[in-house]
Amino acid sequence: MLIQGRTGEWEVVIGLEVHAQVVAEAKLFSGAATAFGAEPNTQVSTVDAAFPGMLPVINRHCVEQAVKTGLGLDAEINLTSVFDRKNYFYPDLPPGYQISQYQQPVVGRGRVEIEMPDGSTREVGITRLHLEQDAGKSLHDQHPRDTYVDLNRAGIGLMEIVSEPDLRSAEEAGVYLRKLRSILRYLGTCDGNMEEGSLRCDCNVSVRKPGAPYGTRCEIKNLNSVRFVMQAIQIEARRQIGIIEDGGAVAQETRLFDTARGETRPMRSKENDYDYRYFPDPDLLPLVLDRDWVAKLKSALPELPDKKRARFVSDYGLGMEEAGVLVAERATAEFYEKVADGRDKKAAANWVTGDLFGALNKKGLGIEESPVSATQLGGLIDLLADGTISGRIAKDVFAEMVETGADAAAIVEAKGLRQVTDTGAIAAAIDAALAASPAQVAQYAANPKVLGFFVGQVMKATQGKANPALVNELLKKKLSS
Ligand code: ADP
Ligand code: MG
Repeated sequence: MLIQGRTGEWEVVIGLEVHAQVVAEAKLFSGAATAFGAEPNTQVSTVDAAFPGMLPVINRHCVEQAVKTGLGLDAEINLTSVFDRKNYFYPDLPPGYQISQYQQPVVGRGRVEIEMPDGSTREVGITRLHLEQDAGKSLHDQHPRDTYVDLNRAGIGLMEIVSEPDLRSAEEAGVYLRKLRSILRYLGTCDGNMEEGSLRCDCNVSVRKPGAPYGTRCEIKNLNSVRFVMQAIQIEARRQIGIIEDGGAVAQETRLFDTARGETRPMRSKENDYDYRYFPDPDLLPLVLDRDWVAKLKSALPELPDKKRARFVSDYGLGMEEAGVLVAERATAEFYEKVADGRDKKAAANWVTGDLFGALNKKGLGIEESPVSATQLGGLIDLLADGTISGRIAKDVFAEMVETGADAAAIVEAKGLRQVTDTGAIAAAIDAALAASPAQVAQYAANPKVLGFFVGQVMKATQGKANPALVNELLKKKLSS
């Protein structure tokens, strides 16, 4: 998607660096806990606080999570990787360096496929994934004058996932980030919770005339929602276009996104890698992985969204778009498969993406908090399938289920909503309807659409409980006799 400037059209070029917190009980190099929301400085070991003489010990589970993620991104796994010290001073970084991976990351090139709303797909290259420690947190809002430091986060394992500069619009960046988050959640390697900071994103943005070489980029740090990522890209691209069109040049720098003012602001001029004096951490041996262990992890990977969607389309006969909606979140896909198990797949998909999503949206709930469980929704579909209730009544029963959490069968019994399949009762309702509208009866021969009018009348008279197929059949007979 091109942006119109004063001097013609511009293309945005974007590469994302995503910091994904590893799902693990303990930190990357210490046994301290990682739970979110704990009292400040209650989850800090002497390693995290960098007491003199303390030694880091690698957390095997974190390595496993990183490798799984690499496999899920269809990436090369490097059987030997190296932990380096990235040296810089910051009050929330007690050792004066962060343990990270530099020239030899644990995961190399991979790829993610993204689908745009118009149905087109694109492949986004993954440059690398490396393991690193998180830093602590400076708290500036606890005291009028002083800044406090909370080290609970210090040392927690992060996966930095770097993309190639393959994205071409804010929209693509948003779709990529959502897809990446979905894959991480499927894998169970990162919970993807952006509000809690488990997934943070740095955006590299440059602009160019279509076909020209890449322009100078700026990096916008620490964006914590998909919406902010997209906004920041748009605003930053406009800013850069403005500078170049005014005859200036973009300076490579690190910027902050001020969400309140809707602008990006310089934070510091871009540091260079050599500023960090990277060198292999002498406290840690190179990380050497066993080929068979990696192969085992690979064969145990869960079914990921792309594959699942393909299966929903080929085995369940769902449309691409519908299947895409169902697989976007692992929890939704699992809910759907439970509903669809042993039932009409298409009907199950309609109920989940239509009525259920509608109800959840209205209540602002996620699928995990659904007042109607998968088993309960399945029960409703069964009542519909075996003719106990009509389609119209099913909608009412569903609405009641959402409000009360009761089972469909219980609601149907309590309210006497069973479908009327008694021919006599239906015939009586039909006779009454025909008698009430002689003019429409007379029109029937010339205009068979009148049938629909009478179906409506009969359904109304029976409070929607008459079996619609029976009503249709009997009405046709009576009208043409
Ligand atoms: P650094 O280590 O300085 O952050 P990298 O080479 O690792 O630099 O690149 C970081 C990110 O910047 C990557 O996601 C990459 O895709 C992106 N990137 C590189 N060049 C450009 C460019 N010209 N425009 C936009 N993004 C870019
Ligand atoms: Mg970077």
